[in-house]
Amino acid sequence: MRKTLKSGLQVNPLGRCSDSFCLEHASVVVTFQSRHSTVAQEPVGYCGGHVESRFVDDETYERHRESWAGSVPGSRVSRRSDYEIREPNEDEKAELAWERGAEDRWQAEGRIGEYRRIVELHAADTVDGVFVDAWTAGACVALHDALSEKNRARWLAMPTAMQCDVAIRLTMGGTT
Ligand SMILES: [Zn+2]
Repeated sequence: MRKTLKSGLQVNPLGRCSDSFCLEHASVVVTFQSRHSTVAQEPVGYCGGHVESRFVDDETYERHRESWAGSVPGSRVSRRSDYEIREPNEDEKAELAWERGAEDRWQAEGRIGEYRRIVELHAADTVDGVFVDAWTAGACVALHDALSEKNRARWLAMPTAMQCDVAIRLTMGGTT
């Protein structure tokens, strides 16, 4: 699932290539260039390998298109000449570096970092033996970030199941 960084660049979580399940870092920025529209298109980050395999020259593209016979869902080849392909600029480089550091930050943060990780990667996981889905983890993160320092410490001291229960009740509009 792609995420849009502040600069507008779209990449997978942890600054990874936007191709599904690719674990490489995004290192090339690809932006669709519409000939018929002035609407700015969102730049998308890919690894070098996927830029090479997905964005092909006109001749290769036509050849692919003929062999598709007009309808092959999931085909992933695009016409290179329709895209601007470039190195990330300074802002994008800094953002990508920050995204790549997420695992270390979550680790350093302890329990709330575990919840942030589940939210960011959209991947349910066990936290201290309790199965936590992304929706529940999202409630925990929202509550944690909204609490005062004192209440945050109290909440963090609770067992996982209670943390989740309290977070869901409070973020669903309940009262303290
Ligand atoms: Zn890739």
